[in-house]
Amino acid sequence: MRRLIAIAALSLLTLTACENNPASRPAATPVEATSTRALSADDPSLEPPALEKGVGIQSALTQFVDAKDRVSLTPDEWKKRLDEKEFYILREEGTERAFTGDLLDNKDTGIYACAACGAPLFSSETKYESGTGWPSFYTPIQEGRVGEETDRKLGMARTEVHCARCGGHLGHVFPDGPDPTGLRYCINSVSLDFVSTEDGGKK
Ligand code: FE
Repeated sequence: MRRLIAIAALSLLTLTACENNPASRPAATPVEATSTRALSADDPSLEPPALEKGVGIQSALTQFVDAKDRVSLTPDEWKKRLDEKEFYILREEGTERAFTGDLLDNKDTGIYACAACGAPLFSSETKYESGTGWPSFYTPIQEGRVGEETDRKLGMARTEVHCARCGGHLGHVFPDGPDPTGLRYCINSVSLDFVSTEDGGKK
């Protein structure tokens, strides 16, 4: 019985891990301001590049859009591009249920790009098992790729993270991650497309 209670308590803690209030964290990295281009849903620059098999992550990264590129689409254009769940999470700051994301247990080598605009956001090299039920990374792939904002929606301050290129909601960042940053980027699978650098495939 005691074991059952312990398991139930652990599950509850795990399920709410992305809702926890961060005690403190380092100041957010400012995202460089640039001009923003208005695009339509079928603009080819919104897709991640097709990679050659066996390309290294750093080399693959140079084939993605520039870190300074910023884009905007109207809500109607986003609806053409995203399905209902993607629109809810990326454009309306929703959260997928814990342990349901298709990239949670992905251990392949490659780049996690924004599912809305194709910008590179995270690398498989910084993904780790947090046990929270959401894909977790200890740092973004490059400075300026992930923006931050204070989120007070649940009546407490959390740090929301979004794609710097298109503003798409990704998740939150918490100060309880592993070395070397001590940060946990808690990210919805729905917000990400995985591009393998081993076989060039997309998930
Ligand atoms: Fe994006």
